[in-house]
Amino acid sequence: MPDPRSTLAELGGGRMDRRRFLAWTGALAGTALYSQVRGDLAAAAPPMPGYPFALGVASGEPHAAGVTLWTRLAPDPFAKNGGISAKSVQVQWQVATEEGFTNVVASGTVAALAELAHSVHVDVGGLQPGHVYYYRFIAGGETSPVGRTKTAPTGHVAELAFAFASCQDWQHGFYSAYRRMAQQDLDLVIHLGDYIYEGGISPTGGARNVKIPGTLREQCRSLERYRLQHALYKTDPDLQEAHRIFPWAVTWDDHEVENDYAGIHPEFSNDNQGFVKRRAAAFQAYYEHLPLSINARPTAGSVLLYRRLRYGDIAEFNVLDTRQYRDDQPCGDGEQFRCDANFTATKLGAAQRQWLLDGIGASGARWNVLAQGTMMGELKHNAEGTFFWQDAWDGYPGERSRILQAIHGKGVSNPVSIAGDWHSTFVHNLKADYEDDSAPVVATEFVGTSISSNGDGLVYGPYYGPMVPFNEHIEFFDGDRRGYVLCKLDHEIWRTELRMVESVSNPDAAEYTFARFVVEDGQPGAQGECVPVNPPPLGRVDC
Ligand code: FE
Ligand code: CA
Repeated sequence: MPDPRSTLAELGGGRMDRRRFLAWTGALAGTALYSQVRGDLAAAAPPMPGYPFALGVASGEPHAAGVTLWTRLAPDPFAKNGGISAKSVQVQWQVATEEGFTNVVASGTVAALAELAHSVHVDVGGLQPGHVYYYRFIAGGETSPVGRTKTAPTGHVAELAFAFASCQDWQHGFYSAYRRMAQQDLDLVIHLGDYIYEGGISPTGGARNVKIPGTLREQCRSLERYRLQHALYKTDPDLQEAHRIFPWAVTWDDHEVENDYAGIHPEFSNDNQGFVKRRAAAFQAYYEHLPLSINARPTAGSVLLYRRLRYGDIAEFNVLDTRQYRDDQPCGDGEQFRCDANFTATKLGAAQRQWLLDGIGASGARWNVLAQGTMMGELKHNAEGTFFWQDAWDGYPGERSRILQAIHGKGVSNPVSIAGDWHSTFVHNLKADYEDDSAPVVATEFVGTSISSNGDGLVYGPYYGPMVPFNEHIEFFDGDRRGYVLCKLDHEIWRTELRMVESVSNPDAAEYTFARFVVEDGQPGAQGECVPVNPPPLGRVDC
């Protein structure tokens, strides 16, 4: 399959595609301010050994008065220190109301520090709610691509459009789903984890078939190696573009560190001390490469990732961290029979659980979203209902029940969970008590499939499909399509569309709507409409 990106040297070494070139020349499009800034900064920063913005730009954490801006200077992403010898580099940032930067409304200078891989995180304040802004960085005499972002609105908000995504194994395929997502008009993108995978990269880059530097072959364990992995992922032009034009909110799942890890417990070994170091390295590299507020800068090997994002009276997002504080999977890893310890184990940790239950619904927003790595809905693996995947909320059913019961008891308006992890689509009617068939549905859940993980093959449909009939509360399941989930909200209806791509072997693959669902205000549970496709899904929605 022909693709213009033939080597990573081309990808990372200052090559500029047409889209980026247009953004870049757009940034140059004529202001005295630019020349002035460039003149001042030429003295402050040494010239780079290549284009310093090879990993793109991003914004995130939108709130009513601002956003966080991100970039990382890495003129040679796979060289030592990204190709920068200086300890720190002064970076100018600017925010304007239009792409030509004639009306700059916020600006400043920040140091890109070697100790943070020359990444830049700027928490910009003083902006207007619900407004589109443009931003750029200038360093070493070079100007970044122009990013576009949007602050959160306040007061009465009639409509909101966002997409969510997860699981983007770089080796399993191209990011055609991000190329299509970038054609939507979105207020926000939410990433629910497995942003990177920790495994070594094969010499030919798996499904991508490109030559890979030898330094990427080993599994990620050190800070240097995790940085290389993030840099590799960030060289993808479709991922860069989705970051450039939409503000994101991110949380992690397991593969940002290691498969199925739990708190300070690695997947298999008992070397917790060694694992804490590895986890700290992974957490730091994650922070360095994502548009997270400086409040999320790691301290003592820990990152404060759980938080709320508010969109006026229409929605509030409770972004959860279901990895950092959880107990080790109490009844064993993988698929196991349920045991008593499942019912006392915590997935959120006491402090996060308290924070969640104290604050959820307090804003009075119409839709109250739980944005999390792993799915909440139950999936019985056998007819007896005794066998479960222990890494998901099914390994922590006691805490799940207590949380859903509390949210229901408080009368929180329209709780909806969005999750990833499974490389499959599930739509769930969430219940506080799965033991009782007559228990009420208290919330709705949409579990999105992967962006690229598992590639184009048939893997999970044939495996999980036969289990679906054991689970009356599952509205919909499909195991083997790649894509993202589009959500459009107003005050009466939440509309979800499953947007799937034809293939991840071709970065330019077309997308299609696979199924649509609505949740009506005041009525927990989804109602679906399947769009006829071939092959049909394995779930319950009839075409
Ligand atoms: Fe995954
Ligand atoms: Ca996962």
